[in-house]
Amino acid sequence: MTIWRDKIDPKITTLMMRMAKSQIDFGVKEIVVDHTKIRKKRRELLLTGQAKKPVALFGSLESHEKAINCCQKCPLGETRTKFVYGVGNPHAGIMFVGEAPGRDEDLKGEPFVGRAGQLLDKILAAINFKRGDVYIANILKCRPPENRDPQPAEMELCLPHLMEQINIIRPKIICALGRISAQALLKTSTPLSKLRLRWHEFNHIPFIVTYHPAALLRFPDYKKDCWEDVKMLRAKYDQLIAEKM
Ligand code: SF4
Repeated sequence: MTIWRDKIDPKITTLMMRMAKSQIDFGVKEIVVDHTKIRKKRRELLLTGQAKKPVALFGSLESHEKAINCCQKCPLGETRTKFVYGVGNPHAGIMFVGEAPGRDEDLKGEPFVGRAGQLLDKILAAINFKRGDVYIANILKCRPPENRDPQPAEMELCLPHLMEQINIIRPKIICALGRISAQALLKTSTPLSKLRLRWHEFNHIPFIVTYHPAALLRFPDYKKDCWEDVKMLRAKYDQLIAEKM
């Protein structure tokens, strides 16, 4: 990829360089340098003393998706039917993160559809949320063939896409659905059973772990454990909302 240096302001700041580098990492075809936005963002950050916190590089989920939906950073880009970006409320307080699209998701271009998606909707309803209240995404945006587990290298390459979604949405809570997303995001090999029922942190965001709905379909006995997890999640969400009032 070529950086068009002559198109970058010679008084380029560290922030701009960081943004340009991240856009390369995201796999966008052309680096976008919006001077007005950058100056505004930089002023905001400096004024609020938050310059070290993660900064969203795109103004909206739509512009981010548009920039990355042709991504070919890993071989899954060639075998996917549809790119599966994410779905839900762009201002959601809670973000659910699974591992990768399955067959139904790959065909529809939406995460958590089919039987697992219907079960996720029921879980949400049990704690008084609708799908449209939360945001749902996966670590991988393209389906691994035969629904095999994502490989570490694929997740590493795709993770910047999810990180940008998190930076744009800035949820109050992230909930990992299943062992693979929990372990990948927390960078641990601790079993799911030991990660559940306690709060972790991910980029300063409260982070909780529960079962993937597909696992609940295979092992219905885990549903009561999942219920305990989501009750914790709802209680924390209510607490955070109450603290802001
Ligand atoms: S899985 Fe992620 S990194 Fe790989 S091609 Fe798809 S979007 Fe790009």
